[in-house]
Amino acid sequence: MARVYREGDIGNEIMQRKVAILGYGSQGHAHALNLKDSGCEVAVGLYEGSKSKAKAESDGLQVMTTADATRWADVVMLLLPDEKQPAVYRSEVEPNLSEGMLVLFAHGFNIHFNQIQVPPHVDLGLVAPKGPGHVLRRLYVEGKGMPSLFAVANDASGEARDVILSYARGIGSGRAGIIETTFEEETETDLFGEQAVLCGGLSALLKAGFDTLVEAGYQPELAYYECVNELKLIVDLIYEGGLAGMRYSISNTAEYGDYTAGPKVIDEGTKDRMREILANIQSGKFARDWVLENQAGGASFLAQRRREAALPVEKVGAELRALAAEGAEAAAGSPAGGQS
Ligand code: NDP
Ligand code: MG
Ligand code: MG
Repeated sequence: MARVYREGDIGNEIMQRKVAILGYGSQGHAHALNLKDSGCEVAVGLYEGSKSKAKAESDGLQVMTTADATRWADVVMLLLPDEKQPAVYRSEVEPNLSEGMLVLFAHGFNIHFNQIQVPPHVDLGLVAPKGPGHVLRRLYVEGKGMPSLFAVANDASGEARDVILSYARGIGSGRAGIIETTFEEETETDLFGEQAVLCGGLSALLKAGFDTLVEAGYQPELAYYECVNELKLIVDLIYEGGLAGMRYSISNTAEYGDYTAGPKVIDEGTKDRMREILANIQSGKFARDWVLENQAGGASFLAQRRREAALPVEKVGAELRALAAEGAEAAAGSPAGGQS
């Protein structure tokens, strides 16, 4: 089994460093607030006119320009969108780096695919939480943690490894588990996971299930409850107890259907296509396409986002979620918890 680092294995090196978090979005707000609550000295770096500035300030954080935050800091974590990092790195970050500093990423894309090169006198590492930023923050507040991967790509100071691990502890990951990796492994597995399973595979599976029922004449609302809404409940059971834990809670009928139908949906052909997706990631083809797509102003990316938002499954889902939110609000407002 891989070595899993826990809180007790890790020191407090990050507490002796000034940490600049560049970007205050999904990951940025979670890293900044978790580190601050762990006792770190944190500043947020943003561009002039950033929409995130007011939010970071109202969360009690000091906000500087990206260049000032980099000059001020010992450790700089880049948490802007991957596609925006190279330009910001070149103009605001790199000119302000000095010997002994540590540059961190939460995903290896730009280093592994050569979009950013960090000079050899500066330490370079990775702390990649394995989940969305808003959940990283929520778990920390609940006293729990999200697992993270870490990597040391350059240790010019001789202290990089301890500081990187300590950063991972500071965001709460020592409560769950921290595993060592490389930029290459993190980048390729992260891209594969989100494309084949978590985001790409899953959203295609949900849409296909929903469409099959609706095309067969069933009510779209039922199709949504069945194929999309209930997923959360099933995933929670898997998260808590693995597949066996989920199968313990579902009916024997559902479990029998799981064994007999599952392999018909996901078969060897699907796995062949997954291997193709992985090969495109490993060869750099996916990275090249995504970099070029951004150079084209995201033309097809944004068109796709618009088309997907207009799908029937999204419209039905929005209506049903609004009803559920209304119901919950009404229940919270009535003294008998909605029972009267
Ligand atoms: P977001 O898209 O949420 O980041 C948005 C933030 O970046 C906002 O504060 C935005 O400011 C700021 N920003 C945008 N452009 C610039 C700029 N030119 N200069 C300075 N700040 C800018 O990013 P994510 O949190 O999704 O991703 C950050 C990194 O974390 C990526 O490397 C990603 O791969 C990695 N990661 C993300 C995960 C996630 O949960 N999303 C999971 C694990 C890793 P404004 O408000 O003004 O637009
Ligand atoms: Mg990921
Ligand atoms: Mg990712």
